[in-house]
Amino acid sequence: ERVYGVSQWGGGYFQIGENGNVHATPVPDDPSIRIDFKSVIEEIRQEGVQFPVVVRFHDILRSQVASLNKTFRSTIEEAQYTGQYQGVYPVKVNQMREVVEEIVDAGTPFNYGLEAGSKAELLTVLAMNTNEDSLTILNGYKDDEFMRLALLGRKLGRKVVVVVEKYSELLLLVKTAKELNIDPIIGVRAKMTVKGRGKWESSGGERAKFGLTITEIIKTARYLEEQGMADCLKLLHFHIGSQLTDIRAVKEAMTEGARIYADLHKMGFPLDYVDVGGGLGIDYDGSNSTNESSRNYSMQEYVADVVYGMKEMCDLEGVPHPNLVSESGRAITAHHSCVVTEIVGEIKSNSASIDTSEKEGEHFFLKNMRELADTFESQTNMHEVYNDASQYKEQALDAFKLRVITLEELAKIETLYWEIMARLQVWYRQEEYVPEELQELDYSLSSQYLCNFSVFQSAADTWAIDQLLPVVPLTRLNEKPSVNCSLVDITCDSDGKIDQFTIGREITDVLPMHPLRKDESYYVGLFLTGAYQDVMGDMHNLFGRLNEVHIFSYDDDPEDFYIEEVVKGSSVEDVLNIMQYNPRAMASDVKRFIDRKVSSGVINPREGVRWTDFYEDCLSGYTYLKP
Ligand code: PLP
Repeated sequence: ERVYGVSQWGGGYFQIGENGNVHATPVPDDPSIRIDFKSVIEEIRQEGVQFPVVVRFHDILRSQVASLNKTFRSTIEEAQYTGQYQGVYPVKVNQMREVVEEIVDAGTPFNYGLEAGSKAELLTVLAMNTNEDSLTILNGYKDDEFMRLALLGRKLGRKVVVVVEKYSELLLLVKTAKELNIDPIIGVRAKMTVKGRGKWESSGGERAKFGLTITEIIKTARYLEEQGMADCLKLLHFHIGSQLTDIRAVKEAMTEGARIYADLHKMGFPLDYVDVGGGLGIDYDGSNSTNESSRNYSMQEYVADVVYGMKEMCDLEGVPHPNLVSESGRAITAHHSCVVTEIVGEIKSNSASIDTSEKEGEHFFLKNMRELADTFESQTNMHEVYNDASQYKEQALDAFKLRVITLEELAKIETLYWEIMARLQVWYRQEEYVPEELQELDYSLSSQYLCNFSVFQSAADTWAIDQLLPVVPLTRLNEKPSVNCSLVDITCDSDGKIDQFTIGREITDVLPMHPLRKDESYYVGLFLTGAYQDVMGDMHNLFGRLNEVHIFSYDDDPEDFYIEEVVKGSSVEDVLNIMQYNPRAMASDVKRFIDRKVSSGVINPREGVRWTDFYEDCLSGYTYLKP
């Protein structure tokens, strides 16, 4: 727990069991429901599903939906706020059909709706959000087709709100609505002067990509008035960025947003809804701080700041409390899925060594290094030992290139160098002060655990924006982890690695893991991947989508679970098709080449059939390694 901080970032959904395995507790109201990851892994193997696998806990999705809605409801009641909460889930955060279906189903008692930001998403939400009492909010840039689809939603009796992101969209919407004779519900997105805090802070501020300036908002209201459509203007929206790390940003945004709402009301434009966008953050690193991968507040505090912030301003200005909408996506989905994969190897810079015993006529560079190693115990200035060893190694490399020392001498020098570094590492572990250069030692002597997955497919944000995601071995947690590691994936790209972790409150480049054992698989989980990661991944090196299993708990046995569905990941054929290949034609081409070799006697006929079948099997197989 101290190393992996599971209870810090787990949001109550994950913990380390007494048997040393990670357990999921997907139903917070019933902590007796515990699902042991080891059993999940066994079940996955029995089902014949190959790793890596995305494991989805649908109970967690349901629980997060209920939790957000209940928190808003109880805070509204406690604050004697007279508006209601009508949240929407922004599908862009995870558009997987099973995810959206589960959220819609869990949200039905709360009239929880959906948000779309593109035409494809709009087509999706029109089909999925069938509850006439919930909202469908449409953000993003729009064209004529987009507007017609939105108005189709109105025809179907849905509360579809078109949020105007730029002034020209308003003209298009009004024109289309008049042509079709359908009353639109219109929202305006305000370009906020307050900026969020964190990686997405450019979503706010004057240079923000989306939204109308105050002048444009007033112009919009007046234009609608002129067109006899003032009562279509129903919603004010703002969004100052995802993953807000500091609660002060939420407070500031509420003050600014509430002021705009109140003044519009006083100008004769009484809006029904204020939509505060997304931004509710996740504590990825478990530090509960303003670190970029954390946040210094809870869902409860966030909701209280939204509700009370709006109430105070409305009461001061003497305007009614509007209904509140939020578009939290990350907070709803992040916890519900994780990637489970196997470590398939270890890479270590100092793992190979050769006999370094003295030989006649050897170069004095080698002699120097050996002497340093032999006299290590009697040395008093360890920093000097480090500097000397590093210098000898550098000189040896140059000397090798200049044909002064042999390959074998260079290998001996390297072996002795790493031996000295390992001893220095042990020595400095007891010291309080470690010189800066030597702080790298832990990293350079650490292992790289080769992980059967692709960072670019499964954890795109760790590569793109240094997002931190918790990594935890799923078993053996009652054993002390003694190997410092970073993780590398199986792509041919040196960026395909994870070397940022948190231990306690410290960000580190290595994470202690357990030594690999022969004949025993070692599985790790990459957690909190349910928001954005599931859908932002790409096919670098043609590693495709992962197999997925959907886990549900049994009502009658709290320690049991079942795999409700297996969704097959991409086969090699699938990814090749996307890249415009024709796998069937490729298979017959390869068969022809094999047949030619059979005709010329290079391959015997039976062997030829086997090679042909093998090629075809691989085409229809999974894109990841079969350890
Ligand atoms: N709404 C809008 C307009 C957004 O741009 C985003 C994402 O940035 C969201 C909602 C979802 O935000 P989050 O995932 O932080 O809840």
